[in-house]
Amino acid sequence: MQPLADIQVAQLQALDGLAFDIDDTVTSHGKLQPEAFDAMWKLHAAGLRLVAVTGRPLGWAAVVARHWPVDIAIGENGAGWYAGTTRRPAGTPERGFFDDAATRAQQRVLLTHIEAEVRRQLPHVQLANDQGGRLCDLAFDVGEEATLPPEDRAALVQLIEAAGARAVVSSVHAHAVPGDWNKAEGILRAARELLGADLARDMHSWAFVGDSGNDVEAFAYFPVSVGVANVREQLPLTHTPRYVTQAMRGQGFAELAAAILAARR
Ligand SMILES: [Mg+2]
Repeated sequence: MQPLADIQVAQLQALDGLAFDIDDTVTSHGKLQPEAFDAMWKLHAAGLRLVAVTGRPLGWAAVVARHWPVDIAIGENGAGWYAGTTRRPAGTPERGFFDDAATRAQQRVLLTHIEAEVRRQLPHVQLANDQGGRLCDLAFDVGEEATLPPEDRAALVQLIEAAGARAVVSSVHAHAVPGDWNKAEGILRAARELLGADLARDMHSWAFVGDSGNDVEAFAYFPVSVGVANVREQLPLTHTPRYVTQAMRGQGFAELAAAILAARR
């Protein structure tokens, strides 16, 4: 990981959009940090497309899309998305899903099975407190209200995988993911569907910033991938971001935003 200060100005000038994680990237202890929210508004005012992409529920993404200055809010690590309301082009859909309705119904059966098995085999493991807003995945608390020891995290991951789902672990949750989505795929699909943007062709015109294990596909995909400084707490990761900010969490996000805005002046 190189310091963000090493990035070429031309790379920042080429950016049309920024996709960003929410937990521990723009929040600290679960609260949106004022520096980060202010930075979002400045990026929005400068004309950048903003995509929030989180492991949080789609029910939360619906709120983010309406309340924050974003073009898209993606929830459940790419399982679905909502269009922002500030610049939504006429005629575009309000929301979309990675998988079709019939597939999602099958996935629901698998998640019900996994939930029952966790209750039976790891009865002390709790569902995430935001499970009620989830439409496509199942999340367990590993570091939000509970502090689950490493051996319990490993047992939970093993159980999820043995049942036939993927396990995706963030700083706060372990998710049972029944489909092939991830944050990078979700960003690509949602940007195509809602913004008409082809990020497979124009990957250099978008940056991604995040902090943890559910961000690795996006770190790997985007040439301008950035970690806020607390990403170091999550190492080792299967893919690390190319650049890292000096500041942690929302202040790190604001540091990246300031660099992007300075390059455009
Ligand atoms: Mg995060």
